[in-house]
Amino acid sequence: MHISQVKPGDTLIADDGFSCLDPDQRVTVHSDDCGLFVPCRCGQHYLDGQLNAVGDLVGLYPPVEFKTIQTGAST
Ligand SMILES: [Zn+2]
Repeated sequence: MHISQVKPGDTLIADDGFSCLDPDQRVTVHSDDCGLFVPCRCGQHYLDGQLNAVGDLVGLYPPVEFKTIQTGAST
């Protein structure tokens, strides 16, 4: 999912790569003056830090896409 498609109020699901979010934890996107973030155990996890070279979110997925990834991983 590209960062440009993410907006405040969206639900994202974390993968197991976070120390500050539980695997499969659902989080809601918020925004402030610094940009988009999701609440986590470290406070505010800015999505800026979760982007790959082309601007796709890494580690946080919308529910539908997350389900696809999980299914793909198990086959
Ligand atoms: Zn965090």
